[in-house]
Amino acid sequence: MRYRCWWRWRRASIRLQPWGGPGSIHVRASLADQTGPAASTTLAIALGANLPGPVGSPLATLIAVRPLLEARVLEWHESLPPPGEAVTLRWSPLFETQPVGGPPGQPNYLNAVVLVDGPSPPHTTAAEALLEQLQGLEQHFGRERHERWAPRSLDLDLLWWGDLRCQTPRLQLPHPLWRERDFVLAPLAALEANLGAALGGVALGQAALGPGGTAMALTGRAGWP
Ligand code: AMP
Repeated sequence: MRYRCWWRWRRASIRLQPWGGPGSIHVRASLADQTGPAASTTLAIALGANLPGPVGSPLATLIAVRPLLEARVLEWHESLPPPGEAVTLRWSPLFETQPVGGPPGQPNYLNAVVLVDGPSPPHTTAAEALLEQLQGLEQHFGRERHERWAPRSLDLDLLWWGDLRCQTPRLQLPHPLWRERDFVLAPLAALEANLGAALGGVALGQAALGPGGTAMALTGRAGWP
């Protein structure tokens, strides 16, 4: 299926109210929308794992992939014409989240988000090139594709890149479901202290972490402070 990615996203335990409804969280298409023009090229990548891979546990996988992903993002950015300013990567803490959907009895996930500040103005070809890098890393860490919402040794999704909107056979941006996924929202809220205010005055971190949320922040450790 072309956009299998969207279908396998686990159903979130956070239930966002309809737009404008009581207690609604107004989440726009990208963080750039929420934080102003200075952040308009910010790009976001979500990481998740709940199966062991070639390097060991999901934790070992995420710790191992972090420097590799960082290197690939930097190389990818350097390859973009014209040579842009340096990019900065901001890593969220790790979170443990419960799987929703998919086969019963699968292990909890470990999740994180990385924000890439300052890449060149977004465009589809470059976004697809980055997706290719992400998929190469998934394969490197033993990703096998089975049924929808199946457990996985590594999942890397491109959430958004500035205000780029695209829908090609390989890539849809922004990811249509990111705003409903606590395994995305909780790491994002940890990275962006003002995210809740920007999204309508709701403390997203509390929403994601509080009653009804499934995301639990892990304490820092070697390889993932
Ligand atoms: P999955 O097997 O769940 O990793 O799904 C990945 C599929 O979704 C691949 O065929 C990708 O080309 C496609 N896809 C479309 N948009 C995105 C995106 N923003 N991030 C990651 N994968 C995407």
